[in-house]
Amino acid sequence: MGVPHVVLEKSSRAGDQWRGRYDALALHDPVWCTHLPYMQFPETWPVYPSKDQVADWLEMYVKVMGINFWTNASCTAATWDASASGWVVSIVRDGEQLQLKPKQLVLATGVYGLPKMPTFAGAEEFCERHEVFHSSSYKSGAAYCGKKVVVVGSNTSAHDICADLWSHGAEVTMVQRSPTTIVGRETLKEVLCGDLYSEEALLRGINSEKADLLCASIPMSVLPGLHRQVCARMRERDADILSRLEQKGFLLDFGEDDSGNFVKFIRTGTGFYFDCGASELLASGQVGLKVGDISKLSDQGVVMEDGGVLPADTVVLATGFGPMNDVVAKFLGTEVATKLGKVWGLGSGVQRDPGPWEGELRNMWKPTQVEGLWVHGGNLQQNRCYSLYLALQLQARALGIATPVYGLQAVHHLA
Ligand SMILES: Cc1cc2nc3c(=O)[nH]c(=O)nc-3n(C[C@H](O)[C@H](O)[C@H](O)COP(=O)(O)OP(=O)(O)OC[C@H]3O[C@@H](n4cnc5c(N)ncnc54)[C@H](O)[C@@H]3O)c2cc1C
Repeated sequence: MGVPHVVLEKSSRAGDQWRGRYDALALHDPVWCTHLPYMQFPETWPVYPSKDQVADWLEMYVKVMGINFWTNASCTAATWDASASGWVVSIVRDGEQLQLKPKQLVLATGVYGLPKMPTFAGAEEFCERHEVFHSSSYKSGAAYCGKKVVVVGSNTSAHDICADLWSHGAEVTMVQRSPTTIVGRETLKEVLCGDLYSEEALLRGINSEKADLLCASIPMSVLPGLHRQVCARMRERDADILSRLEQKGFLLDFGEDDSGNFVKFIRTGTGFYFDCGASELLASGQVGLKVGDISKLSDQGVVMEDGGVLPADTVVLATGFGPMNDVVAKFLGTEVATKLGKVWGLGSGVQRDPGPWEGELRNMWKPTQVEGLWVHGGNLQQNRCYSLYLALQLQARALGIATPVYGLQAVHHLA
């Protein structure tokens, strides 16, 4: 669109965010959902590309799309200069401190904030002979053959890591504290994505961009009703594995109003796993399951609130990531973070998405209460779809086209 820009990336190569994730990671949703805009993944690729394929594609994409992309360029702070009506962005690039002065600043630091690291009594003593680390530092189960590993958490990373550890011969137990939405990956592909994001949809002339537009045209208030029907069909298709998981004591949920994984993601960004094998390992007992709260760590392992002890050499905290607001506060300071308010959430009134009802995702891809500040992110489908609308708004401002905003959203600070 001819908008002057610079993308700052603290890593040394585009795609490092994906490259650095655990080796076993492949995309969990089918390729028709995850294409990048303008240039689709090759037709020879699998339906679920590996994380390294995505990483290399991003690196190539930056080059061939002519994106002004600075690597080893870490943003350390940004402040608004009212007299110049623009931002002063402090960066460190290849060790050198620089300041940039853009009119518009887009935060695109990822869908989540910083890793959530629960603290447990006894952790220090445990770490004298054993180890505890967050799932974002997990690479592979290769070093854990014959070791006892407890994985804390029951969403995507927890499942993937349990399966990977098991495949490398570790003795693995998952600790589940709260219910998880489980959908078979093939079920997701056929039932949820099939009409819009699939080979069949393509044959009907619906490519990813058209599918995005169709999805984005559905008002958020209508989504739960539509998805309740889809969710019921998915549960029916997955009935066997779901009932066997329940028999093992696994806590299942499908959203407070049974609207399933997609609405849960829109509301809370978390709480699900698209099953690509780990559920069978749990249902058959090959990966152990303990439901409950952890009381502390001891030399023996993980001590649960009910007094049970899970022997452990290693504890992996697949406990997710904090909110994007943490990142805002870290780089822009608490004053700007307060003025901006909560990022993500609709105000649907369910747990982790308290009201009041907003009707659109808070602060995403639209003008915010902070002049010149924009927030971008989401999964690959949202990134593809909404980057266009965000870019159009930036282009209009760059061209000096009048951009009146009718009703900025109210600011909320809800946990
Ligand atoms: C384990 C895991 C599995 C996932 N699987 C899927 C999936 O199957 N499908 C899907 O659609 N999504 C998946 N996601 C979500 C995924 O993160 C997004 O889809 C995608 O990576 C979002 O791209 P992004 O550019 O918005 O954020 P990211 O890929 O997170 O990129 C943000 C970038 O900002 C950089 N950055 C952060 N702070 C600074 C700073 N201060 N200065 C400079 N640079 C900075 C980071 O280095 C990073 O490269 C997964 C996430 C995780 C954690």
